[in-house]
Amino acid sequence: MSNTSEASPLRVISLGGVGTMGKNMTLFEQRGELLIVDCGLMFPGTDHPGVDLIIPDMTYVLDNAERVAGVVLTHGHEDHIGGLPYLLEQMPALVWGTSLTLGLLENRLAEFDPVPGTELIGVNAGDRVTIGSFDVEFVRVNHSVRDGVGVGIHTDQGLVVHTGDFKFDQTPVDGISPDFQALGRFGSEEPLLLLSDCTNVERPGFAGSERDVGERLGRIFSEAEGRLIVTCFASHISRMEAVFQQSARCGRKVAVAGRSMVRNIQTAQRLGAMELPPGVEIPLEQVADLAPHEVTILASGSQGEPYSAMTRMTVGGHKWIEIGEGDTVVFSASFIPGNESMILRNVDNLYRRGARVVYGPEEGVHVSGHGNRDELRLMLNLTRPRFVAPVHGDYRHLMLYRDLAMEMGWPAERVLLLEMGHVLEFDNGQMVRAGEVAAGGLNVDGLGVGDVGEVVLTDRQALSEDGIVLPALALRKDTWELIGGPEIYSRGFVFMSESEEIVAELRDEARATYERLADEGPVDPERLYDRLRSAVGKRIGVLTGRRPMVLPVIIPVDLEAQPAAEDELEGVVGADEA
Ligand SMILES: [Zn+2]
Ligand SMILES: [Zn+2]
Repeated sequence: MSNTSEASPLRVISLGGVGTMGKNMTLFEQRGELLIVDCGLMFPGTDHPGVDLIIPDMTYVLDNAERVAGVVLTHGHEDHIGGLPYLLEQMPALVWGTSLTLGLLENRLAEFDPVPGTELIGVNAGDRVTIGSFDVEFVRVNHSVRDGVGVGIHTDQGLVVHTGDFKFDQTPVDGISPDFQALGRFGSEEPLLLLSDCTNVERPGFAGSERDVGERLGRIFSEAEGRLIVTCFASHISRMEAVFQQSARCGRKVAVAGRSMVRNIQTAQRLGAMELPPGVEIPLEQVADLAPHEVTILASGSQGEPYSAMTRMTVGGHKWIEIGEGDTVVFSASFIPGNESMILRNVDNLYRRGARVVYGPEEGVHVSGHGNRDELRLMLNLTRPRFVAPVHGDYRHLMLYRDLAMEMGWPAERVLLLEMGHVLEFDNGQMVRAGEVAAGGLNVDGLGVGDVGEVVLTDRQALSEDGIVLPALALRKDTWELIGGPEIYSRGFVFMSESEEIVAELRDEARATYERLADEGPVDPERLYDRLRSAVGKRIGVLTGRRPMVLPVIIPVDLEAQPAAEDELEGVVGADEA
């Protein structure tokens, strides 16, 4: 610790990952410089229909862009790197990470348009680099994606250790053990603060070794007589490698179904983070040429994701794979809370198709990548920090971790509960709470960031409950004269073919709305849109008592280029729901 006159207080700010799991992001600030550790995203629950993902509110970072010294990534999971492309579209940054982490980030960045100036800088576990006034050491820990690290950040106020997502696997399948020595050395430096993963604080003992999962998969593979279909997380390199190895041992070829999986396997192989037995991988279209006992299919969609390879297979909707009698399906993944019903629906459908299904914690086909209570204790004992703050947890996890640390002798005032956006300031071994910065979640929907607010979410709730109605009109582009329609299309509202009267009334309402507006003078399409929306919506309310979303579709038609206005309308949404 340097207590020189220029020593600056250290500010620690969490922008995500505490209180609610997901979108992990932590800021460290000293001498006017910012160091960012991780920049993740989270996948929304059912209260955010249609929102693809949520990223941290990064206003504070963007407002202070010129003060950002760099970004450090602990590992390649989306909840740690997934928000970064959105930041890099608004400001350049220097980004440090291990090779697989940066490889996974590059896959994501390919879909974005980062501002020039960003640089990705590869590091190895054990490296120590200077980032502005911070001195950062990268330390090997085990996790469910390879090449994960924790970081030791040397600051003016002392050493801060951030564990990243970790567990201690003493028989890791990649042969790379956690760096107990470095963590122990950190302990001898009397760290100021430990930020510890607390995800599995509810579970006793140790999380277990990935090696045991490989062995269990091996037994299942040996017993299976028909085809094997295995699903796991697409980022779980070790698990996918085990599926290849066990398949090779049993004389099976492996076909991979799912784009994210194929891409991650290629990336990991290219970076030397994955080694597959030669000649085992085959393309999906060759599966049909082989006998069932010669085939393993590795499929994405372990969480029951609606359009995933796995889900399509469970309903007979996959182009190449039809699951049936004699097949064994293995869910080699945890059920993330919130996804259970989707996953179990897939399990049901697989049983319906006659498959044998292996799933759930008792089967031993999955271990967590996060340490259990004894691993959390071990981390605390190795690093012996003055202050400790649990991260990567829902609120109950933070509280349980606080109890765990207090049982081990840390006084209550030194177990810190971070809150999103709250600033903790450390000076001379003391901590004070020093205000707040903007924090929260931004909804990302397709290409838009932060433009999906409460109003839109309410709309979407309406959409999912009462459906959507689209009154469609074709208007002459020059005079805005009505030349086609109105037609009424709908989805999820009523069975249109059985509701001719309603449709006829809505068509009349739309026409009358157009005519009233035309009587007032030249038709303005925007006003027409608003009037249609309100008039048709009211009419539906009167007729059915329901409130579907009404989205008028106004098609300007250039008569010279396109004489067939009715054809234009056909193209809008196709035929009515039947
Ligand atoms: Zn992780
Ligand atoms: Zn994580």
